[in-house]
Amino acid sequence: DSLANNKDYGGGADGLGEYSPQGIKPVNAAFVAFVRNSDLYGMRKTIQEIESRWNHNYNYPYIFLNDKPFTDKFKQGVKDLTKAEVRFGQLEPDTWGYPPWIDQKKAQVERETSNYIKGRSESYRFMCRFQSGFLHKHPLLKDLEFYWRLEPDVHYFCNIDYDPFLYMKNNGLKYGWNIAPTEYEPTVRTLWNTTLQFMDRYPELIPKDSMIDWVRDSKGAYTKCHFWSNFEIVDLSFYRSEQYSKFFDFLDHSGGFFYERWGDAPVHSLAVSIFLKKSQVHYFDDIGYYHPAMAHCPDGSKERGKCVCDPKEGWANGFTCAKRWRQIS
Ligand code: GDP
Ligand code: MN
Repeated sequence: DSLANNKDYGGGADGLGEYSPQGIKPVNAAFVAFVRNSDLYGMRKTIQEIESRWNHNYNYPYIFLNDKPFTDKFKQGVKDLTKAEVRFGQLEPDTWGYPPWIDQKKAQVERETSNYIKGRSESYRFMCRFQSGFLHKHPLLKDLEFYWRLEPDVHYFCNIDYDPFLYMKNNGLKYGWNIAPTEYEPTVRTLWNTTLQFMDRYPELIPKDSMIDWVRDSKGAYTKCHFWSNFEIVDLSFYRSEQYSKFFDFLDHSGGFFYERWGDAPVHSLAVSIFLKKSQVHYFDDIGYYHPAMAHCPDGSKERGKCVCDPKEGWANGFTCAKRWRQIS
């Protein structure tokens, strides 16, 4: 029972960690989801699982953001599934859509001639840019130390019997992940070169002991490894840092969110890799997780028999980027 008794995990004999029944949570943290009203039923599935697997013991709040006003039906539909506080917000001006320097004609040509997944969608690009540069700046997240991103239609396969927020906080961790695939080349054609230009321009922001070798191979090329950001637990001081915000602005001005289709996952992951040490990043390989198309099922050594997935089918632990993670220092 080493996990539950490990103070670092916030575990106690009752499995409630340091959760206070009075509602004083050990970490100022919340779940955050950017969703549409039409995502109600997918979101209800996610909430039901995260509540029963974990949050019913903690009651961390939920924050829902949308580019349109939430309907009463959506609000009631998610509130019905949790006793935790739920907040709803709409996006701030200028965080959705095109910034003024973008050539919208050129963006349109890219969309219409693309043949990669979600390549033809304009709103998908707005979403990726928003989640890369503005989600963490939304006023509803202002006082949060950590967030845990949620999406509709995901699965949490295993009971989680400690507080991942507290674990991260106690161990000085900035970024937590659990699935790491490689990105489709056509969506990130110039992202690596743009990142290298950023590093040239701002050498003072780039530490020497980062985990850059996760994204850079022995020949100096981009591995296209990225953490799948539909699950991520993050110390928001990282995204609020001068380093991160300068990096986002640099990428944003280069236009790649629109002239290609840069996702928030490779953007977050490149920032993690160039700015953080491996010891500040955590592989939550005990958190069984599925998002449409990929799954991570713990191998059984950590989660103590509380998962409903078959480890043989939770293949993500065998991905080359998960292997690379285990190899780099
Ligand atoms: P994928 O995970 O990359 O396939 O992208 P998704 O389609 O799942 O979108 C990621 C997240 O953004 C999900 O939580 C979606 O509900 C949300 N999302 C995507 N597009 C929009 C949009 O146009 N408006 C809003 N409000 N949410 C969106
Ligand atoms: Mn998704």
